[in-house]
Amino acid sequence: MEPWQIILQNSITTLDGLQEHLDCDSNALREVIANFPMRINPYFLKLMHHPGDPMWKQAVPDVAEINDRVCEEDPLEEENLSPVANLVHKYPDRVLFLVSNTCAMYCRFCTRNRKVGTAKMKITPETLQAGYDYLRCHPGIREVLISGGDPLLLPDEEIAAILKNLRSIPSIEVIRIGTRVPSVLPMRITDKLVTLLKAYHPLYINTHFNHPAEITAESSLACTMLADAGIPLGCQTVLLKGVNDDAETLKKLFLALLRIRVKPYYLFQADLTRGTNHFRTSTATGIAIMRQLYGHISGMAIPTYALDGPKGKGKIPLTPQYILAQGDTLVFENYQGELCSYPEADCG
Ligand SMILES: *Cc1c(COP(=O)(O)O)cnc(C)c1O
Ligand code: SF4
Repeated sequence: MEPWQIILQNSITTLDGLQEHLDCDSNALREVIANFPMRINPYFLKLMHHPGDPMWKQAVPDVAEINDRVCEEDPLEEENLSPVANLVHKYPDRVLFLVSNTCAMYCRFCTRNRKVGTAKMKITPETLQAGYDYLRCHPGIREVLISGGDPLLLPDEEIAAILKNLRSIPSIEVIRIGTRVPSVLPMRITDKLVTLLKAYHPLYINTHFNHPAEITAESSLACTMLADAGIPLGCQTVLLKGVNDDAETLKKLFLALLRIRVKPYYLFQADLTRGTNHFRTSTATGIAIMRQLYGHISGMAIPTYALDGPKGKGKIPLTPQYILAQGDTLVFENYQGELCSYPEADCG
């Protein structure tokens, strides 16, 4: 076994394990864990310092998960938008292809908690083949986003086989991998994996960091190795109540990501996923945070704040309103709240 596999094997996955390592009433969590699995690996465990801190909230189950009466099982209607199992075709030119059903940690706010980490998510050689066949028959699809679960938890050979199959389809221009491994199990990024990945360019990786404390020597090294292999790195952060829902925390996170060569890509408004209502903030909070970022820090460090529309309507950017009036002259305010104007071009 590789070192990262041993680390993973030593994860907390049971009530007893939780009781042993963390200060919490684990009995109350029995039903919660039965509902959505828990996996707290030793690397991430070390990042937690006290009950309820931002790392804790992301990884440790909470009874609020089973008291959610607001959210839905599949708010993005991914299942309805899947022409074949585990392939979500929502946009004309790109698809989401789920190739793995496990993760290095089960994030308590996971959008796909209806199936990730459970037997409900069946990935087999047949489902993979059905995906390749679908892509081959739909040459309008030029980008495949490989996700899961976490694709980088698959063995190297399986990752290579998936990439090779996708690269054999002439209409696929770009491959994008969505993975939380760099932030939750950075030692999975090995020299061997990086060498394998860089044979399939243009390959992009979008990772997922939510808090500045996730930027460690280990996660920095993982991102550096991937960037050195010529893989452009983006980050998809989820706006989470009690974890990162303030401008100072997000500024720190986004600037730190830039330093490790990761470009903040999306800041997601939390989806309406059953069991995660306690993580949702108002969009007003999110927009106010964005206003404190634009102009104040490098534009390179600023992601698009987006809401993934319920019922599969797609991602909608949520942006502070700077435009005050639009006519012959555009009237707007700048990032410091100063009133400005810009004469429009003569369209006559
Ligand atoms: C988010 C998403 C994509 C990718 O959208 P981008 O805006 O290109 O990042 C593609 N397919 C599905 C189903 C998605 O949810
Ligand atoms: S890594 Fe992604 S897919 Fe896995 S539990 Fe976390 S949010 Fe869900």
